[in-house]
Amino acid sequence: MCQQCIASLSRRSLIRGGAVALAAAATIPLHPIAARAEDADPGNPDEAIQRLIDGNARYVANTPINTDFSPGRAERARGQAPFAAIVSCADSRVAPEVIFDQGPGDLFVVRVAGNFINEDGLASLEYGSLVLGIKTIVVLGHSACGAIGATIDAVKNGTELPGHLPSLIDAIRPAVEAAMAANPDDLLAAATAENARLNAEYAATATPILSEARKAGKLKTASGGYDIATGKVTFA
Ligand SMILES: [Zn+2]
Repeated sequence: MCQQCIASLSRRSLIRGGAVALAAAATIPLHPIAARAEDADPGNPDEAIQRLIDGNARYVANTPINTDFSPGRAERARGQAPFAAIVSCADSRVAPEVIFDQGPGDLFVVRVAGNFINEDGLASLEYGSLVLGIKTIVVLGHSACGAIGATIDAVKNGTELPGHLPSLIDAIRPAVEAAMAANPDDLLAAATAENARLNAEYAATATPILSEARKAGKLKTASGGYDIATGKVTFA
């Protein structure tokens, strides 16, 4: 690991502490005090996932605590210490920081239409684990996903898409074909869930970095689905 990376790691607790101190010193509590409790390192993968679950519950209840992003801005300029990575779709309605009610610096987000992990995405997640110390990777599908729907159309009807869009189809095709084999009532929902599950499994077993972190108990992977209508994330 490079010296800069090591220095970054050693600064993590300092950055977290600085954010708490800044909030405590604020004369006008623009950022609710409850949000500051979220700055503590979640400690382990299970607590990291619970933090996401709790944040989504706040979002669903329309009681978010991350509504003012100015506190901690100076500290964030010095480094980052996200606790979770989210692999989400590029869909404009699926914004991880919003739906998990987290602030800037909390989530390491990899986004691509169809929320799959290609080599560049995997490298990003490896950086998140090895250098930034993320404790969980959540692959997040969502309702009414156009990329999944287009892949279903391509698989079932042979529809050909222009430009580079076929590369998305190729990446999502295994999940669609696996879902079709089970003959589900709702193929779009089943393929979306299968796509998230397959990619979470890929992250969990990807050698050498992510699989080693998982075996060491430093990292857990999960898949979930985001319902655009209700705002709720359901973990598989
Ligand atoms: Zn989508």
